[in-house]
Amino acid sequence: MAGPFLWPADEPWPMCRAVHEKGRGHRPADVRLERRILDEAWRRDPQRGPSEEERGILAGLQPGLHAPDLRDSDPIPLLAAAQLYVCDVPDLIGPEGYDLLQVLWCPFEVHGPRRTMDVVVKWRRSQDVTDVLTDIPEPAVVGRAECVPSPCVLHPEQIIEHEYVGLLGDALQEMIDAWEEELLDAAEESGKEYAEGEEYELTYQHDLSIPPGWKAGGFASWHLTDPAPVDCSSCGTAMRPMLTVADREWDLGSLSWVPIEDRQAIGTRGNSTPTDVYLGRGLMRIFTCPTDLTHPHRLSFQ
Ligand SMILES: [Zn+2]
Ligand SMILES: [Zn+2]
Repeated sequence: MAGPFLWPADEPWPMCRAVHEKGRGHRPADVRLERRILDEAWRRDPQRGPSEEERGILAGLQPGLHAPDLRDSDPIPLLAAAQLYVCDVPDLIGPEGYDLLQVLWCPFEVHGPRRTMDVVVKWRRSQDVTDVLTDIPEPAVVGRAECVPSPCVLHPEQIIEHEYVGLLGDALQEMIDAWEEELLDAAEESGKEYAEGEEYELTYQHDLSIPPGWKAGGFASWHLTDPAPVDCSSCGTAMRPMLTVADREWDLGSLSWVPIEDRQAIGTRGNSTPTDVYLGRGLMRIFTCPTDLTHPHRLSFQ
């Protein structure tokens, strides 16, 4: 996440050429400094928060017109977001022969009629890159701090998902309802006392079908809106989620997806949000066309 990127030194870096305000927002360095200060303060003492001196620094990191000379039509470099190798992420499906996916985005949620992100998806053959770009460009200002990913390394885990409940047939939905009720009855009958926050109310939606977190492939959750078709603009085929960008790796309301190695540190600040990214209302999905992976991708938000 967030670089370094295997990018050829002689290949132009993708730029946002859309017309929108580009000079007002946060400086990327300020975003990183604020995160570091808050993280260090928490690690020192979760109760006390930042020191007086740190609070003074934080107060100076406000968004504003930090690049007054940037005109709305000026191109700005996109942010390096994610770089994934197919060998690390088996469910990542790209065009034949390509082994590396690079995702970049403009850090202003202002594009198109829905005022969302603009994302560039780049597939490459890693062996073609010999001379690597060392200085990754970045914009002077970002529209939202939550568009800036924090550098971190992904540890992919392969799991089985099941379709979003609202897209299952009626009979299957009824069976799931009945099964959830049985679980609940059994839990009540057992009379077992559960510690606060302990899970006993398993549900299909939260614990079996679609996990939280970044992922490649799988199904799309439609918990905020009703399911909406995402069809290819070139050929009309129903598209599939290639990559889901999530604001958190697990939710305190449903801990069944917490990786075993993270269970001892569920309450640690930032543990479920290693990327610090929050797009849309928590989820951005990059859909691709299963008929032809070179057809333009589409974005969907929840
Ligand atoms: Zn833009
Ligand atoms: Zn298509």
